[in-house]
Amino acid sequence: ARTCLYAQKRCLSAVAPKPATDKVGNTKLYINGEFFESQTDKWFELRNPATQELVTMVPQATQQELQHASRTAEEAFKTWRKTSVLARQRVMLNLQLLVRDHMDELAISIVTEQGKTFSDAKGDVLRGLQVVENACGIPSLLMGEQLPVATDMDTFTIREPLGVVAGIAPFNFPAMIPLWMFPLAIATGNTCVMKPSERDPGAMMLLAKLAEQAGVPKGVLNVVHGGVDTVNYICDDPAVRAISFVGSDHAGKYIFARGTANGKRVQANLGAKNHGVVMDDANKNHTLNQLVGAAFGAAGQRCMALSTVVFVGKAKEWLPELVERAKKLKVSGGFEKDADLGPMITPQAKQRCHDLIQSGVDEGATLVLDGRNVQVADKYKEGNFVGPTILSDVTPDMKCYTEEIFGPVLVCLFADTLDEAIKMVNKNPYGNGTAIFTNSGAVARKFTEEIDVGQVGVNVPIPVPLPMFSFTGSRGSIQGDLNFYGKSGVQFYTSFKTVTQLWRHEDAKSNRADVNMPTHR
Ligand code: NAD
Repeated sequence: ARTCLYAQKRCLSAVAPKPATDKVGNTKLYINGEFFESQTDKWFELRNPATQELVTMVPQATQQELQHASRTAEEAFKTWRKTSVLARQRVMLNLQLLVRDHMDELAISIVTEQGKTFSDAKGDVLRGLQVVENACGIPSLLMGEQLPVATDMDTFTIREPLGVVAGIAPFNFPAMIPLWMFPLAIATGNTCVMKPSERDPGAMMLLAKLAEQAGVPKGVLNVVHGGVDTVNYICDDPAVRAISFVGSDHAGKYIFARGTANGKRVQANLGAKNHGVVMDDANKNHTLNQLVGAAFGAAGQRCMALSTVVFVGKAKEWLPELVERAKKLKVSGGFEKDADLGPMITPQAKQRCHDLIQSGVDEGATLVLDGRNVQVADKYKEGNFVGPTILSDVTPDMKCYTEEIFGPVLVCLFADTLDEAIKMVNKNPYGNGTAIFTNSGAVARKFTEEIDVGQVGVNVPIPVPLPMFSFTGSRGSIQGDLNFYGKSGVQFYTSFKTVTQLWRHEDAKSNRADVNMPTHR
């Protein structure tokens, strides 16, 4: 008998799981170069968030299947690690072309399973593709250091792959975040087991197909599915040397603790509460457009969504205009041409969002724009839609401020001075992103210097760095020391070997051994 895990654990209104039919295919596992059906009796229902139509059933892979994936990756590592860096570069060059050629297909899968708009879904793919493009420079990225340290003696470093590494991804960027993980992992010579989100694994399945076409050999990239059981397996399997995780605080802290306790290297990017600080000398039009786009794009389901705004001084007078612009956004299914924002991922996420809006009202905030009960076309009336919502007069003790809402809700606070605003941002435990809007270089400079947040925008609302840099969220938004992609990503997936060698033409003159610590002088 099939069991639906969401029905068991998460859906309050438990729906009987529908067995997969020919029309609605089950999501396959991808292990050792084969796509095949899981033998499990536990499945997750994946429904289109705009309509609730059943899209696919996602398996909770069995222990045997998970073991098969990691053993396969372990075996493949023996040969993959020995391929030349130029061969791995060639695979990345092929992959970047294939991803670009299949952009629409990937975006269609994202809209169907995740809900964001088609053009935003293409952005999701593109921001991941940029990591593959960067990985095409892997020969330069892997270069080590060399120094002649003494007469006839040289020391040099080699970056070596770790072995089997795993990636555990969230639902909100079904292409971009897997692309932060597996391309760099395999370009550096590791083999990889990916676990996409059980809510939208379709893009990762397409990427696995493209990786195969690009020349990634059997077993080098494997894709498994599931929830906590799969995660536990990854955290405990001695074959897995490192885990890249992106997702919520709850899961990330757990994975970091369990993975590191088992001796693994773990990088865990967690939740966020990103503040935009608005000075009254800023370009008003630019600022208001950017605030609205960054708060409500992707229905606020971005870890870098600008979900909090601090108006400094007279800038608070701009609030009514901000509300007018937010009202103009069109809420609809992601395939509709005029849609600005799509649905939230699940009915539970929508309910949680409603509850957090209500908590703000109950705690004394002013609801200046209410997106609950937003009107959508008839065919979307079952979807998980929440319209743009703005809460004003919010204070830092309110639940709508202390919790990451991860929905289309902007909370607004007021400060009298820049110092007060900086203090507020720095007091928040998260450190993913922040932005200042100003026309003063001096103000911007003070802000970038004094703000304790890892990614800062100056008149740029979502300052996600391109992959020649790294994603450098800080404080409560990360556990682990090495960031995703860029130089830091290469460091995460490799370890240094340092070789000191002596090549001397002549034999030693003395026949007595020196027992002192060598000092190379
Ligand atoms: P999530 O933590 O629910 O899921 C992420 C992954 O962890 C999934 O693969 C899931 O199967 C697994 N998982 C979920 N619950 C688990 C548990 N209890 N134990 C072990 N594994 C578990 O996150 P989500 O809802 O998919 O994604 C949204 C969150 O991700 C938000 O908090 C957002 O801020 C964060 N996020 C952060 C970044 C970043 O770079 N900082 C980027 C994107 C998303």
